[in-house]
Amino acid sequence: MSQDIEKKSNFIRQIIDEDLAAGKHQAIATRFPPEPNGYLHIGHAKSICLNFGLAQDYPGRCHLRFDDTNPVTEDTEYVESIKDDVRWLGFDWGENLFFASDYFERMYELAEHLVMKGLAYVDFQPQDAIREQRGTLSEPGTESPYRNTSVDENLTQLRKMRAGEYKDGEAVLRAKIDMTSPNMLMRDPLLYRIKHAHHHRTGDDWCIYPMYDYAHCLEDAFEGITHSICTLEFENNRELYDWVIKESDVPHQPKQIEFARLSLTYTVMSKRKLLQLVKDNHVNGWDDPRMPTIAGLRRRGITPEAIRAFADVIGVAKANSTVDVSLFEFCIRDDLNQRAPRVMCVLDPLKVVITNYPEGQTEELQADYWPHDVPKTGSRAVPFGREIYVERSDYEENPPKGYYRLAPGAEVRLRYGYYITCQHAVKDADGNVVELHCTYDPETRGGTSPDNRKVKGTIHWVSAAHGVPCEIRLYDRLFAVERPDAEGDFLEFLNRDSLSISQGVIEPSVNTDDNERYQFERQGYFFRDPDSTKDALVFNRIVTLKDGWAKSVAKTEEKPAPKPPKPKVEKDTDDSKERPQKRSRSYERDKARAEEPDLAARMEAYTKLGLSDDDADLLSGERAKGDYFEAVLAHGQDAKTVAVWLVNELLPLVGDDDALSSLKMTTAAFSTLIGLVANDEVSTAAARDVLATLLASGGDPVEIVDREGLRKVSDAGALEPIILQVLKDNASEVETYRQGKTSLLGFFVGQTMKATGGTADARMVRELLQRHL
Ligand code: ATP
Ligand code: MG
Repeated sequence: MSQDIEKKSNFIRQIIDEDLAAGKHQAIATRFPPEPNGYLHIGHAKSICLNFGLAQDYPGRCHLRFDDTNPVTEDTEYVESIKDDVRWLGFDWGENLFFASDYFERMYELAEHLVMKGLAYVDFQPQDAIREQRGTLSEPGTESPYRNTSVDENLTQLRKMRAGEYKDGEAVLRAKIDMTSPNMLMRDPLLYRIKHAHHHRTGDDWCIYPMYDYAHCLEDAFEGITHSICTLEFENNRELYDWVIKESDVPHQPKQIEFARLSLTYTVMSKRKLLQLVKDNHVNGWDDPRMPTIAGLRRRGITPEAIRAFADVIGVAKANSTVDVSLFEFCIRDDLNQRAPRVMCVLDPLKVVITNYPEGQTEELQADYWPHDVPKTGSRAVPFGREIYVERSDYEENPPKGYYRLAPGAEVRLRYGYYITCQHAVKDADGNVVELHCTYDPETRGGTSPDNRKVKGTIHWVSAAHGVPCEIRLYDRLFAVERPDAEGDFLEFLNRDSLSISQGVIEPSVNTDDNERYQFERQGYFFRDPDSTKDALVFNRIVTLKDGWAKSVAKTEEKPAPKPPKPKVEKDTDDSKERPQKRSRSYERDKARAEEPDLAARMEAYTKLGLSDDDADLLSGERAKGDYFEAVLAHGQDAKTVAVWLVNELLPLVGDDDALSSLKMTTAAFSTLIGLVANDEVSTAAARDVLATLLASGGDPVEIVDREGLRKVSDAGALEPIILQVLKDNASEVETYRQGKTSLLGFFVGQTMKATGGTADARMVRELLQRHL
């Protein structure tokens, strides 16, 4: 499957297609911009595959750019590991390797340029004061007393900052934008801060460092990036991104596009948490095969092809969601099934003596490397002798019904070998089985009997005289729960059994310099760990076989390639109606609130405003929705009513959060419409029509209502003739009603509402009808 996964179109490709069709660019330029402050993980791999993949599919290039603007947390060790990982994933940045720190001088010059334009100023207030002055979502910010310092003075001060005349925290450079902007990020954001710190590349050249929002867009512009793809958290930063680009007067204008970050079940992805796992020795380093780091996945034996296939399968979307790790495992198996030759390894050996096999004799049996459904050929010779090892779990003294492996008196087939029958189990003093005595049927060499005798079970084995001892590391999921960082301390959810080690025996065709990924028959896929030495082989289990061999009966036939689990992947649209999606999105919202204090504050504030729990959860947990909600609230309608209209009426009509910021309907119009309903001037049904009109073509709701005659008719005088007409038109129903079938009242109400185009006040209609009937 890996080869023929179609590169699915997605909203990013659509944007690129449009830009190319409009002649905006001849070729595209994307970038992968890691901060060298940790190892890359599978989430980064998604971004790498996306950015480098686009540059491969379109005429274009992808830059590897180290976003090293924070001197404190960064390190050259990480730079090298990141390069390794990107290369290993199969991507090549060619000449396009960049470091943000190389642009420090140019960025600084542009900062002076902004100051000279009167668009930036040096602020000497303490950080707390600046933070407090930012205001809240419902209150505008307060202007800094330094906001109107003269250009000359600001220039002098900025130069002093650069010259090191101030200590850390004594001054910052801020953009002069708008302290009342509904987007808090636009309220005079910081551009530079002072940090007397050594940088891993620029040494002590600088003591001021640019902030992300200032630096990142300039890096993109300097490099001629056309499409700057980032994760959804940066949606609100886009306005600032565009502002900096515009006001700096840089010639090139990159476009920021946001997509949903990858989260996987049963693991954590935050760099901070991964670091904690390493530092506190919960795992054995960054490349522990249980880690979701690329280094870990690589050591475990997962191939770059499997990771790329996974990235293609999950696609890109605009809504965050958590991908089931079993989908990743499916991609891994699918890839390994095609590439891993089958060999035999006994993980938990139990010795079998074949008592009727001549002592001292050995022979070689031919064994295929490939099952029938893999278009490859090849075989090797497997030595066989009087003593072999089988899996301890392949013997049962008291076999349950349906157990077709070894048991007293039972006959099984040895894979590629003979039929053997268990005669006797040798036990130690404690009653543990330590050895089996079996007999073999010499007529069954190669696995068939001349008399067509049926044996149901086939087991794997390794010759005791020829097998090579090896250490086997069996990995399980690192966490015991699906969402370890959903609540509480994620470390509490570590799976204590995520690693178990056994001493096995492997057939001698596999040796110490063998770097192949293998399927150990009936056990899973395995890869040699770098801990292996010349004398001691160590294998990592990459992934188990899908069909749970251990539980089911041993079989000779290979199972057909498994079907993919229904991909629980992100979709392009908001699928909040779908249950599983809904669950994972509510989890995302909890997470967002846990990570972002202003969202947590929203939850509290919204609850106080009287919103239902569901509405408060939705609007506080998803930033774009909350921002929109607050923008509508600013026009003065009751919060609870606004929330109900937003959640129940508007959101189902707009595609995604992104669309909220570019509706034809203004927030003021939406608010007015809500007011019309609340004041009983327009019925809910009529308001829905107005909403549709507003979304389609904008405009003023009051005008639309009047133009279309949608104002509620709550004047009895106006209603009376309509009602009389309805009764006249439905004379036989009136008869039936008067004979006692009063349940017909609803019918008359409906007819009247219809006759008024939904504009009548339903309560009044009901009363008038009752009176006339
Ligand atoms: P932080 O910024 O907190 O250190 P980060 O995970 O964002 O962590 P970066 O080095 O900034 O790390 O990320 C590099 C790129 O990888 C960014 O463009 C980011 O959007 C992308 N990225 C990071 N995590 C994921 C993820 N889980 N899924 C998809 N893309 C991701
Ligand atoms: Mg980041």
